[in-house]
Amino acid sequence: MTSRRPVLAGNWKMNGNLQLAQELVAKFSSELDSDAVEVVLCPPAVFLANVKQLLEQNAAALAGTRIGVGGQNASALDGGAHTGEIAASMLASVGCDYVILGHSERRAMYGDTTVSVAEKFAKAIANGLIPILCVGESESERQQGNTFDVIAADLEKVVETNGKRAFDNAIIAYEPLWAIGTGNSATPEQAQEVHAFIRAHLAKISDSDANAVRILYGGSVTPDNAVELFAQADVDGGLIGGASLDADKFINLCQMA
Ligand code: PEP
Repeated sequence: MTSRRPVLAGNWKMNGNLQLAQELVAKFSSELDSDAVEVVLCPPAVFLANVKQLLEQNAAALAGTRIGVGGQNASALDGGAHTGEIAASMLASVGCDYVILGHSERRAMYGDTTVSVAEKFAKAIANGLIPILCVGESESERQQGNTFDVIAADLEKVVETNGKRAFDNAIIAYEPLWAIGTGNSATPEQAQEVHAFIRAHLAKISDSDANAVRILYGGSVTPDNAVELFAQADVDGGLIGGASLDADKFINLCQMA
């Protein structure tokens, strides 16, 4: 079986500040000495360059740890008169390695769709970023038995737009909408069922090695429920919202992954 390095990505959303970044870096320097996990910090865009610089300044103390920086969104366009938008090339230029795409909050409040997310994915890849593609069903879609269909549609559109090898260097985050920020995490069994579906579906629709693609679980992950979630065969770490704003909890989660 392919061994997959777990990823722990912290999505700060519109929260946090440079003090949090300093606190995290200090803690990573003293408390996490393992390259077995890949850590991704996704602060608000205005802090990206500072966080990157902070990691570089502390490179010696962080030598044993893999930590990268990621954007929370990128435009489907290259540039121009699009006030407030950020191009994938701009994220790359300040040292980002990753970008979260299609987060359910962007879909619900800022117009992201299956089509636009697939286009953003293309820009991320073209600029050397690793997309962290968020997929997941709403509560009513789950109740109606549509979970797999909703997720399949996003995966298929990404392959249609980006080609059969789209997932060669991409990460997927399964984030059921009903679990995000609710304190109501999916059970380990529910997560595993969907992660296994995603992997099997990728094997069907793409030429990327589905066994090598990291699939993260996101939705109310805390140190209290992470061990069981991360122990599932197809769960390769987490996309963490609320708990990524607490340095102790986030480091703790990184140690559990
Ligand atoms: C998220 O927003 O991606 C998320 C998983 O949030 P939380 O961990 O707070 O549920």
